[in-house]
Amino acid sequence: MPGPKFRVAICGGGIGGLCLAVALSKHSDIQVDLYEAAARFKEIGAGVMIWSRTWEILTLLGLDGKFAEIAHAPPDGSDGVGFDYRKSDQPEEGHRFYFFERPYGCIRFHRAQFLDVFVDALPEGVDHFGKRLISYSQTSSDTPVELHFSDNTSAVCDVLIGCDGIKSTIRKQMLEEKARMGQKELLRNINPIWTGTTVYRGLIPVDRLKALDGKEHRTIETPMMYCGKHKHVVSYSISKRSIVNVVACTSRPDLEGSTYRDGEPWVVDCTQEELLDCYNGWEPEVVEMLKCIEKPTRWGIHHLRPLPMYVSNKVALLGDAVGLLSIMYRALSNATVQAHAMSPHQGAGAGHAIEDAFILAHLLGHHSITLARLPQALLAYEHVRLPLANHVLRGSYESGKMYEFDGPQGDSLQGLGPALEKQWDWLDQTTPTGEADRAVERLEDMVQNE
Ligand SMILES: Cc1cc2nc3c(=O)[nH]c(=O)nc-3n(C[C@H](O)[C@H](O)[C@H](O)COP(=O)(O)OP(=O)(O)OC[C@H]3O[C@@H](n4cnc5c(N)ncnc54)[C@H](O)[C@@H]3O)c2cc1C
Repeated sequence: MPGPKFRVAICGGGIGGLCLAVALSKHSDIQVDLYEAAARFKEIGAGVMIWSRTWEILTLLGLDGKFAEIAHAPPDGSDGVGFDYRKSDQPEEGHRFYFFERPYGCIRFHRAQFLDVFVDALPEGVDHFGKRLISYSQTSSDTPVELHFSDNTSAVCDVLIGCDGIKSTIRKQMLEEKARMGQKELLRNINPIWTGTTVYRGLIPVDRLKALDGKEHRTIETPMMYCGKHKHVVSYSISKRSIVNVVACTSRPDLEGSTYRDGEPWVVDCTQEELLDCYNGWEPEVVEMLKCIEKPTRWGIHHLRPLPMYVSNKVALLGDAVGLLSIMYRALSNATVQAHAMSPHQGAGAGHAIEDAFILAHLLGHHSITLARLPQALLAYEHVRLPLANHVLRGSYESGKMYEFDGPQGDSLQGLGPALEKQWDWLDQTTPTGEADRAVERLEDMVQNE
């Protein structure tokens, strides 16, 4: 058996890193090692939703059957609800102002189950736990990349992919090195910034919602977007409609860019009273639902300033490491909004990490890629992924404003419907396979011009 063509090290085993490892493992001539800081793969207990373009990738990876088993319902391609948008920030019953429908609708999962499908698809020997990367060294393009871990061990690889989330160590080192070479402005991209948005999350067993005055709550069947001034609540059922996932968002635009709660941790438990106080005076359907969340968690939503690149020689970034926490409902200002991050209401953060992984694996697995051409493969990845991710991020920013009646349309519901519709155009403007082909074309151009 000949040895591998090259060795890929993936740092970080979240949705992005695991998907990349699974996709690369299909190429028997590539050695894949996944280094995860934690003692095991894990995701928080909450929901995650994806759209049809991500489903297309999961299908191409041969995982659609497994994911169908854990979805809210088996995805069959028929039209489904994306979101039912409703004006809800008044004590009287609210009303729909826009209904978003599309093939497959919004495909919903329990996060831990979602991650487990990738974990189960990972070949043996790929994962390495308790490996927190503290630095890497890349001395020349001809020598391997060295990885240094916090347990005083090290490893080598030919290409390193940073899938290490919003606080990415790899991004920090990459930017510091570029700053030392003259691009000092990149130092501003290292530390995440609070967006001014706080989110309350919780899961509700469906039986509790069914019991409410004997009627079935609307959100069990339909993904809901309850909208109001400076706030909105997203809810949808997951796990074969046995659980409802709730993300309640409240924004203080005046605090954007300030230190989050004087340095408090980004994720903490909080009281139900705090959550209910926030939505006091909203329509009964929302308040009744929130009353079923006994132990909410509170999340400070952070992001980064835009990254102008994802790649440095034989090191690349992927998923949340590239930009900001993907639950970005709001951004600092229009000028700063252009990085890799998507809001959950556009259901794109995990989806884009998966798309990054798919395109990158497609390129690294391409027959023309040799050890010497690894930097070209990474540049082709960056060429295709960076503009689309930035485009969706801008859309996320605008959508966040619109959901909270802070966009150009204000609370003119008539104007909001068509404007929101347009925000979803990106879902169908390209396809993952079309983007993979475009990336290969770029690669072939580079190879021809060597
Ligand atoms: C509240 C909320 C709701 C969301 N809802 C949705 C949704 O509905 N749909 C959607 O598409 N997206 C959603 N997202 C976004 C989505 O969850 C993320 O975009 C996605 O999980 C990012 O995955 P990742 O693999 O890039 O990063 P992460 O999940 O952050 O994984 C990073 C991994 O790297 C490891 N790591 C970190 N540092 C190191 C190191 N130095 N060495 C080794 N390992 C390291 C970590 O332990 C972790 O396992 C949501 C996000 C939030 C916060």
